[in-house]
Amino acid sequence: MINHEDLKQRIEIYSITTFGSGFNELDDSEKYVALSKALMETVLPIWNESIEKTKDKKKAYYFSSEYLLGRFLDNNLISLRVKDEVDRILNDLGISYSEIEESEQDPALGNGGLGRLAACFLDSAASLGYPLDGYGIRYDFGLFKQKFINGEQVEVADNWTKYGDPWGIRKVKETVYVNFDHTIIKAVPYDYPIIGYDKKLINTLRLWKAESLDEFDFKAFNDQNYDLAVKAKNDAENIAKVLYPNDSYEEGKKLRLKQEYFFVSASLQDLLRKFKKSNRDLHEFYKYHSIQLNDTHPAVAIPELIRLLLGEGLTFEEAFEIAQKTFGYTNHTLMAEALEQWPIKYYEELLPNIIDIINRINAKLITEIKSMGIKDEDIYKYEIIHNGNIKMAWLAIYGSKSVNGVAKLHTDLLINKELNDWYKLYPKKFNNKTNGITQRRWLLQANPELSSLITRLLNSDSWITDLSKLKELEKFADDKNVLEEFMNVKQKRKEKLAQYIKEVEGIEISKDSIFDVQVKRIHEYKRQLLNAFHILDLYFRLKENPMLDIYPRTFIFGGKAAPGYFRAKGIIKYINDIANLVNNDDTINGKIKVVFVQDYRVSYAEKIMPSADISEQISTAGKEASGTGNMKLMLNGAPTIGTYDGANIEIVEEAGEENNFIFGLRVEEIQNLAPNYDPKQIYETNSRLKRVVDTLVDGTFTDTTGAYKDIYNSLIYGTNWERPDVYFVLADFQSYCDMQQKVDIAYKDRLGFAKKAWLNIANSGKFSSDRTITEYAKEIWQIERI
Ligand SMILES: *Cc1c(COP(=O)(O)O)cnc(C)c1O
Repeated sequence: MINHEDLKQRIEIYSITTFGSGFNELDDSEKYVALSKALMETVLPIWNESIEKTKDKKKAYYFSSEYLLGRFLDNNLISLRVKDEVDRILNDLGISYSEIEESEQDPALGNGGLGRLAACFLDSAASLGYPLDGYGIRYDFGLFKQKFINGEQVEVADNWTKYGDPWGIRKVKETVYVNFDHTIIKAVPYDYPIIGYDKKLINTLRLWKAESLDEFDFKAFNDQNYDLAVKAKNDAENIAKVLYPNDSYEEGKKLRLKQEYFFVSASLQDLLRKFKKSNRDLHEFYKYHSIQLNDTHPAVAIPELIRLLLGEGLTFEEAFEIAQKTFGYTNHTLMAEALEQWPIKYYEELLPNIIDIINRINAKLITEIKSMGIKDEDIYKYEIIHNGNIKMAWLAIYGSKSVNGVAKLHTDLLINKELNDWYKLYPKKFNNKTNGITQRRWLLQANPELSSLITRLLNSDSWITDLSKLKELEKFADDKNVLEEFMNVKQKRKEKLAQYIKEVEGIEISKDSIFDVQVKRIHEYKRQLLNAFHILDLYFRLKENPMLDIYPRTFIFGGKAAPGYFRAKGIIKYINDIANLVNNDDTINGKIKVVFVQDYRVSYAEKIMPSADISEQISTAGKEASGTGNMKLMLNGAPTIGTYDGANIEIVEEAGEENNFIFGLRVEEIQNLAPNYDPKQIYETNSRLKRVVDTLVDGTFTDTTGAYKDIYNSLIYGTNWERPDVYFVLADFQSYCDMQQKVDIAYKDRLGFAKKAWLNIANSGKFSSDRTITEYAKEIWQIERI
């Protein structure tokens, strides 16, 4: 409950003190800031209460170099349960809420799934009442904004705090100092409230900004050396300047290493400082803290905690034991090339004290495994420091009490293959935590129309904090009226997206076509190329036979390529070229259309998920650790066309294979096929396939960069360092096309298809991050709900 007059007054005051004019004169971005600041006044007392309530409890901490939060305002209004009221207050003032909402820049402090997972986890913990705080970096620039110019990706800087950062509170007094060899950097915390649904609990996301000790060198300035006068400041601030846009594409950059150490050291110092104030024995640190490492990026926390504890007078053995009881490590990838390693020389140069500790950890490990019976000739397999590199995953495994994968298949592959050597030594550490998504953002907020329908049918909104309740929707699966209502909701959302795409992308699509959606980072293993090949095949078949009886379809793509990932950028251009060809060909009667939306991000995803008819999850089996986009689409009633990979397997297990469209090689089949795989032979014998692959080189499209030729060669010939078609695109082409035909047939039975979609919704309960976070809390962190 908020006092209307009071809020209006506060909004007015913030408008004037922040922007110099009254609320009505501000532009939308400024209105957003003034409104948010006024709302922060409502948040703060509850937030402080939460901090007080959790003070003496064991808490968990999520260490992540990425948080892909999405917009704050709408989410916070919903969590505070004041959205309708604020809507009315703004209405009184003659102002539209939705325009203010749309003017908020997404804080895109993450690349993709890994960063979004961190955001979903924070929401779930707060909504369930688990004390979980996040720690990370407050990048000045988040992930680049993406534009297409002539079909090519162009990156634009993302200055997300341009108008202000109303949800962040700068806590200068809690500054800590991070020591790199020869330089000390200030870490200044910015705290963001993570508001649990219905104000259950407000946890804290603490993001560190890097600043210089010496803001300004007056002597240099007086000597007219202006650049030098601000050099220290610039060097320091560079540490938190920009998020590395390298989703599973590791870059050996010193600055990246500095970022990792910077936020980890600041966070641990912060925790130790607070713990010491409580006058508890440092040996009990682990009894009050569980720290989860989101991939290996923050794994330097293990030696750093040991270093800090040594500084407090503990022995190495004591410090190591405390660290091992404190940390848990989540693995996110099966791609060997994405396993993080650092050249020792970087560590020696920047973090000499840390390399010392890592050496001691390594020595301890070797002694330990020898005593466990590992033969001398096998020791190299475990060495944390090996061949001049530091293996962060090995450090994380050895220094943690728990190692988890993010979907059943992924964990099985870690245990039986990728990390089998480690599993044999420490089987009890290994466990699975299948990823999840928060239904508050991905259903309640993104799809209010479907949310209302569900609440009405269940006669309760308890699904908002217990998604397993959706199971009761199964009983309506054959209720024609309910399915009609569902189809109306879907239709409404498709119209809304079509309208938005027309405004933003300038492309007209038919609201009555099938919305076939593939949205995710662009990566060869995710196989956007396979989707593209199917579209071209369909196009050529339509050209040959304009009477071909297919249901009209719109293929919607979204996703960014890492700026240095040449081939992924080529794939974007290729799909845009296909869109140009297909969309401008009148002879196919608009039966298919292709749209690649620009700047796919959380707020765009919130518009796309509710309007999708079919969800493309077509990664090479064994490559997608889990996927979470698949869950968002399932929850919003889009059946999956996909491979047996990541969480798709569990999705189908829950919702039924008959309600999804599974195709392609399985993991074992790929493993068996790999040694003799000959894509050239498939290419030469499948004329439909050959026709589409040849468009890469036969002049159908112009390509001045050589990217298409490179893609073609990678598929047919391979390179010196890579076998041809590493991701088995050609091997899965035919079964994918066949399954797409089944989708077409299934969709023509509108009610039958709606039933499949409905059963996906009803069985999506497992994929709530509430379930995931409860498992972490009970099985890894041992924390209690407040
Ligand atoms: C959910 C999400 C992802 C992850 O998608 P996957 O299909 O699991 O790779 C990436 N980016 C954004 C903006 C998301 O919301």
